[in-house]
Amino acid sequence: MRIVFMGAPGSGKGTQAQRLVQHFGIPQISTGDILRKHLAEGTPLGLRAKEIMASGAYVDDDTMLAIIRDRLAQPDASKGFILDGFPRTVTQAQGLSKLLGDLGTPLDVVVSFEANNDEIIKRLSGRRVCELCKKVFNVHTAPPSVPPECVGGRDEHQVVQRDDDKEATVRERLRVYEEKTRKPLASFYSYTGLVRTVDADGDIDEVTRRLLATLKAGGGAKVAKPAKSKRRVARPAKRKPPVRRRAAPAKPKSRSKPKSKANSRVVKRVKRAAARKARPTRRKSSKRR
Ligand code: AMP
Repeated sequence: MRIVFMGAPGSGKGTQAQRLVQHFGIPQISTGDILRKHLAEGTPLGLRAKEIMASGAYVDDDTMLAIIRDRLAQPDASKGFILDGFPRTVTQAQGLSKLLGDLGTPLDVVVSFEANNDEIIKRLSGRRVCELCKKVFNVHTAPPSVPPECVGGRDEHQVVQRDDDKEATVRERLRVYEEKTRKPLASFYSYTGLVRTVDADGDIDEVTRRLLATLKAGGGAKVAKPAKSKRRVARPAKRKPPVRRRAAPAKPKSRSKPKSKANSRVVKRVKRAAARKARPTRRKSSKRR
């Protein structure tokens, strides 16, 4: 299954993508994570992206498309993928369509996560991440602790707030998302019939249930169904012959035939009687003469 997850930063699409990875056995491809890896490794791209990411702006389209082209060429993406945070602009969406079109593997579904902005600001500004094991916490819902899987153990486990999770940056990211991503991409994908909306507010498990139900109900290749059902609707129209059935009481017509025969017989009888009457009258008058 080839899926795009669209949603404001903090709408929970990353968390839900991780859950689908287990469910469908396909990789989550998060462009934000890829950029953060470059940043952590100090690559030229990471150094270039650092400032941009900290301000809440977008990295340029050419760079992002090159990242995705490389990532989709890796073997694990051949059976499907969940794109998390890409595309973010119409140029990226067009580039992705072209890329997948050339590979003959078009998208199956675009999931749009709809979340309340106040909820998002609370979620993101409360988010904390362990720099070592990358485990995510939230000061409101899942307070930081030392997870057993953290390789650094209690001494090195270090929970921090991402620069772009600071409240002012979160607000700027939401503004940029609205302007460059939500509206333009909703319009771009509206013509494909691939978009499915999921209410992303509330409990994480509940959102997962909604997401799976949405995918089951209408995602993937099932998008082709409306065309089939249209054909099915057309068939009964051909089959219904209510006019013929109503016309079947053609019996009244056959009944009317004898009526008309009877009528004609009566007419003949009347005519004959009239003729008989006429004859003696003529004879009588001839006798008189
Ligand atoms: P994310 O973790 O998806 O919220 O991404 C974090 C930051 O990485 C964003 O605020 C952008 O600065 C940058 N970024 C991630 N994905 C993209 C993309 N597809 N296009 C442009 N910038 C991106």
